[in-house]
Amino acid sequence: TEAWGPDDDKPRRMAGPVRVRVPAKINLHLGVGPLRADGFHELSTVYHAISLFDELTARRGDTLALTMEGEGAGELELDDSNLIIRAARALAHKARVPAHARLHLRKTIPLAGGLAGGSADAAATLLACDLLWGTGFSKEELAEIGAELGSDVPFLLHGGTALGTGHGEAISPILARPTTWHWVVAIADGGLSTPAVYRELDRLRDSPWPPTPLESPDELMAALRQRKPEVLGAALANDLQPAALSLRPALSDVLKAGHEAGAVAGLVSGSGPTCVFLATDARHAEQVAGLLAESGVCRTAVTARGPMPGARAV
Ligand code: ATP
Repeated sequence: TEAWGPDDDKPRRMAGPVRVRVPAKINLHLGVGPLRADGFHELSTVYHAISLFDELTARRGDTLALTMEGEGAGELELDDSNLIIRAARALAHKARVPAHARLHLRKTIPLAGGLAGGSADAAATLLACDLLWGTGFSKEELAEIGAELGSDVPFLLHGGTALGTGHGEAISPILARPTTWHWVVAIADGGLSTPAVYRELDRLRDSPWPPTPLESPDELMAALRQRKPEVLGAALANDLQPAALSLRPALSDVLKAGHEAGAVAGLVSGSGPTCVFLATDARHAEQVAGLLAESGVCRTAVTARGPMPGARAV
């Protein structure tokens, strides 16, 4: 079912089904600069892909159809507003092929959780449909199409740990010594709207002028080069955290509970409401997750490792 190109490292076209696994992201550093004229905020961020995955399966079909199971099933619209449908159409348009596929999503990444689940699904769709249709785009070309769909899509195609600039869509990988970091992910009941969190940040900063200078993630980048959780923990930062806490004051109880459970450090993930905690090793992460789950401050707490590769056929 696979045709390999002469100097290609991936199958050209698959009869299907194509199954793609894609990770969630957290931001180890999220510096938010001023609101730009185009409505985006200038960002300086360090993305990190963790082992919490959505899975997208693409099969041949006569139309474009989407079904799903798992997190958000029954809640997430599966119509043209879904990033999966938008990604499939964008790729088909670019490749001048009919957007025909039967897509099925197995969702683990919580909705509107600050973990970029929607962008992850868009990244998975671009890769899955590229393989199913044999459109043969490079990762960079898929990332370019993806950037139009969501700022985090290019990173979720690449994965690992990477610096994101512009509005997050411009990615450069961070080459560090291979280290696995251990995280605890505290998943909340209900989501937070990313645009609402940015609006709250603008309100808290109140005067749009002079613009808030964009902090550079130098300390975080230096911390990544060491292998000490306490050093990395001290460098974690998120400019959106005060805005997320302002909209959801109960998140301070989650951060407090993580601290009391013995986490090295904790912060709100992206625009929240998910909170992530750094642990020293896998066993420690299990302990912290257990205590957090017992504390009742979150819906559930799971462990995850990072960095993970981006969207991949499995
Ligand atoms: P980010 O951190 O990228 O802002 P998030 O993790 O907070 O995102 P998502 O789950 O990515 O939030 O998506 C937010 C909204 O996007 C959802 O509430 C939903 O309305 C819309 N959306 C469209 N398609 C999808 C999808 N496939 N998965 C999740 N959300 C989607």
